[in-house]
Amino acid sequence: MDKSQVLDFLRNYDGPEVRIMEICGSHTAAIAKSGIRSVLSPKIRMISGPGCPVCVTVTAYIDKLIDLAMYPGNIVVTFGDLIRVPGSVRSMAEAKADGAHIEMVYSPLDMLPMAEKDPDHIYIFAAVGFETTTPVYSMLLLNAEEKGLKNVKLLTSLKTMPEVVNWVSSGKVTGSDGREHPAVDGYIAPGHVCAVSGYRIFEETAEKFSVPFVASNFEATEILMAIYALIKLRGRGVVRNLYGNAVTREGNITAQERVDRFFVQGDCTWRGIGKIAGSAMYLRPEYEHFDVGSRGLDTDYETKGCHCAKIITGEEDSTACPLYRKVCTPENPKGACMVSQEGACFNRFVSGD
Ligand code: SF4
Repeated sequence: MDKSQVLDFLRNYDGPEVRIMEICGSHTAAIAKSGIRSVLSPKIRMISGPGCPVCVTVTAYIDKLIDLAMYPGNIVVTFGDLIRVPGSVRSMAEAKADGAHIEMVYSPLDMLPMAEKDPDHIYIFAAVGFETTTPVYSMLLLNAEEKGLKNVKLLTSLKTMPEVVNWVSSGKVTGSDGREHPAVDGYIAPGHVCAVSGYRIFEETAEKFSVPFVASNFEATEILMAIYALIKLRGRGVVRNLYGNAVTREGNITAQERVDRFFVQGDCTWRGIGKIAGSAMYLRPEYEHFDVGSRGLDTDYETKGCHCAKIITGEEDSTACPLYRKVCTPENPKGACMVSQEGACFNRFVSGD
């Protein structure tokens, strides 16, 4: 089928309702930006998954960063979107206005020259992310080790995809026909994660739940091809790769080895979801001197009325939240899904979907 035939198929699809989840935040942003929802049949529901790292970070982690940043000898370094995520009492942006020592950068590696020039302060990176970002933190530690820097630290909230996708796949939802359906009928596999870890990481879940995965890049036409493939593969536990110029079954072995050197899997709590075994990456015991208390940050307070938990697991979309657009906006976010440019609510809001 050529691209126009695929588009026709997706526009006029009249089969059983199908629920397609894009797992990663970059796909959420690409789908919103390109207006893909507007060309799909109402029987094809696109739902946003738990792959926006900021959206799944618990409040206890934000609170810990603020506590660390209030201490005079510390400087917390973070990405710009994390700074606006509500903690249990306030966000890092509000704490910074009250004197907390918080700096924003674009890459974890930007922290190295800061720490090198200022040995009298401890520089703590707010290390959030998935398989894609963890190799960059390994690079930061490798460089810090080589330079003998003692003032480079991490507070980690690093997560892995297969375990949470497994968790989402085990759920059921009530469809618009009033009947119970699998939570998700097909997944657009996260392209960047697959590039690092290989698409093989989703094979077990695909087989276990008889659900297909298709790896795709971030172009609108390619995403449409992936949606088409997923509808055709519905009910089959297979993984297909449409992102052949970046993704292989095995992934980037060098990056995986770099991660293995510093990090080890453990349990962690996801915002709005709860604890998922084996879904975190923590520093190995021999590298604990780089850590400032990342384990056990499980407490999670959801803003009253915020439906982020249901949105990131595909139970609802943003428009079902009573706060959406009325009191929760990108300028005044009430939940993490409205803060990040990869968040489902933010993208729904800015695209006017
Ligand atoms: S609209 Fe705001 S309050 Fe509602 S789910 Fe999204 S982030 Fe939470």
